[in-house]
Amino acid sequence: MIKVVKFGGSSLASAEQFEKAGSIIREDESRRYVVPSAPGKRNSGDTKVTDMLYECYALAENGQAFNKLLGQIKDRYNEIIRGLKLDLSLNDDFDTIKKQFTAKAGTMYAASRGEYLNGKIMAKYLGYEFVDAANVVRFHKDGGFDNETTNKLLSQRLKVCERAVIPGFYGSMANGRVVTFSRGGSDITGSLVAKAVNANLYENWTDVSGFLVADPRIVKNPEVIHTITYKELRELAYMGASVLHEDAIFPVRKAGIPINIRNTNAPEEDGTMIVESTCRIPAYTITGIAGKKGFVAVNIEKDMMNSEVGFGRKVLGAFEDNGISFEHMPSGIDTMTIFVHQDEFEEKEQRVIAEINAATHPDSIELESDLALIAVVGRGMKGTRGTVGRLFSALAHAHVNVKMIDQGSSELNTIIGVKNEDFNDAIKAIYDMFVISQLPVR
Ligand code: ASP
Repeated sequence: MIKVVKFGGSSLASAEQFEKAGSIIREDESRRYVVPSAPGKRNSGDTKVTDMLYECYALAENGQAFNKLLGQIKDRYNEIIRGLKLDLSLNDDFDTIKKQFTAKAGTMYAASRGEYLNGKIMAKYLGYEFVDAANVVRFHKDGGFDNETTNKLLSQRLKVCERAVIPGFYGSMANGRVVTFSRGGSDITGSLVAKAVNANLYENWTDVSGFLVADPRIVKNPEVIHTITYKELRELAYMGASVLHEDAIFPVRKAGIPINIRNTNAPEEDGTMIVESTCRIPAYTITGIAGKKGFVAVNIEKDMMNSEVGFGRKVLGAFEDNGISFEHMPSGIDTMTIFVHQDEFEEKEQRVIAEINAATHPDSIELESDLALIAVVGRGMKGTRGTVGRLFSALAHAHVNVKMIDQGSSELNTIIGVKNEDFNDAIKAIYDMFVISQLPVR
């Protein structure tokens, strides 16, 4: 049994957090490969080391004094080293970093040092081998990720390594230039390592107890999702639910390795299991609810639209020509509505409308702004009678007017459009209907 364990920034923000991570790792000897993030926030007012590094490097790049800030970053690490009573000095590393900053080694190099240094501490603390991600995670010359070479390098290197720490978030091009993934990218490294060592499980340790059925800023103490499929997760993540970097899914999903989201501060909880498929019946009809505000509906009407071949293509062409991607497109016999992101559309709206007018001569084009889309996702909806009925009655009781509904034939996801101002009430009402009213009486 091999487990790859990735710890997020808040799980490694201080010596105390390192100790929690350490006991989690030591408790199970199959936890052989560890992927750390850079130290995150110790409290809500704190700054992540990665952000400090970006700031520090910006100073260096502008030729301004950066020593003081670099000193503060060093203090963060030294505090951890002292707290863990390690015999380790990062003086040489900081000398190199200072030189590299002065030589303008690049923003990505700068940001990557957060993980690099935390990895060194973690390796020393655990007595595991340190494997620099720059040697095993490869990027192409154009900066794109090189999946094939990475998998080869990582699996070769880790084959001869019983236990190792591989810092997250970065890798390098063949010429040695350091490249980072996008923010939160240590999740991706964890997934790549899991695939390379053929792990049985990829554990992603963070500061929440898994994916929640709904956003805790809207619903008080929402239930944790115990098991979610990759497909469901993708739908929810796309609509704003975020715990895991989106690109972290692909490597392990292809390899059939499940991901377990766990809470470093509550290791006794099972967290959320993300799997390809499951025979586990979900606790509720729905698995999760997520949504986003800030959409515009472009309503187009034209008599006999339905029989006009190529009408839809011409309309969508107007959006494509202006570089706007559309989100949803419910249609009627003589009407068609396109949902787009308001911030993308706003400045180009007149151009798009003019183009639609010229290409399709509609009877009218109306715009409705400040709309929100809510995705109600669940494998349990498939074949369950009355789900949409319950959804609408919940919304009706909450006095929420539904502007749009879109349900794919997979029955995995029902999207509804509401006014921005009804967004929170709608989510609460859906949660009450599908979760609260289904909870066993305690
Ligand atoms: N430290 C990086 C960030 O703050 C990467 C990560 O934590 O995954 O985005």
